[in-house]
Amino acid sequence: MPVLFVGHGTPMNAIEDNEFSGHWRELGKSLPWPDAILCISAHWETSGTLVSAMEKPRTIHDFSGFPQELFGVQYPASGSLWLASVIQEIIKSARVDFDQEWGLDHGCWSVLKRMYPQADVPVVQLSLDYNMQAGGHYLLARELSSLRQQNVLIIGSGNMVHNLQRMVLKGSDFNRPFGLDWAIEANELFKRLIHEGRHKELINYQTLGKSVQLAVPTVEHYLPMLYILALKEAGETVTYFNDKPVAGSLTMTSFVIQ
Ligand code: ZN
Repeated sequence: MPVLFVGHGTPMNAIEDNEFSGHWRELGKSLPWPDAILCISAHWETSGTLVSAMEKPRTIHDFSGFPQELFGVQYPASGSLWLASVIQEIIKSARVDFDQEWGLDHGCWSVLKRMYPQADVPVVQLSLDYNMQAGGHYLLARELSSLRQQNVLIIGSGNMVHNLQRMVLKGSDFNRPFGLDWAIEANELFKRLIHEGRHKELINYQTLGKSVQLAVPTVEHYLPMLYILALKEAGETVTYFNDKPVAGSLTMTSFVIQ
């Protein structure tokens, strides 16, 4: 099974037809059909590592200031106790606890709503332990690799470049392509390091200079990308899509590895 990193951007992409959500829809049709999905979302940070273990995860509307229509969106995919148990079993570098409270946050469902609109693939989320360093997350992610042979689609959902304090909105269209110089510079640097397989430098992102410091002011939207890179096997190809900046200080840059 391929692995996928998605820049999710605004939750409005769940209901707004645009080039980004259009690509998500196409992707759902073109990827091999998975038996289950594991989603690592920027929006679930916890102390310790948790995996959602429930039959019917609720749809979490973890945002404010958006139209009522968005709060009405439900994504009724079932969970997978099987997958939660397998994940608990295969991760050795950290203790993984079952969670029965979370559900699906918008980092997960806003994308899946487009990829699998019928919500007919079971979904499990894995949390980001905020006590863990980036290198620890990378090692933990590698331990997930056997899931690919079990027909599980692993999706990291965040944004490579994500600085909400520096947003520049030109008019009401959040998604109008526009990037500040440092945002574009960081985006291009990340792609170059990915191309050259320089994962160690991507893990030590704090040493990559000023543009990256601005691009990754907090790590939660960046970590899902590291999870997906960690799953790249020798000889696999990285294919980009939605490679565009929006709102000045975010990039929607996404990729499939297969
Ligand atoms: Zn987000």
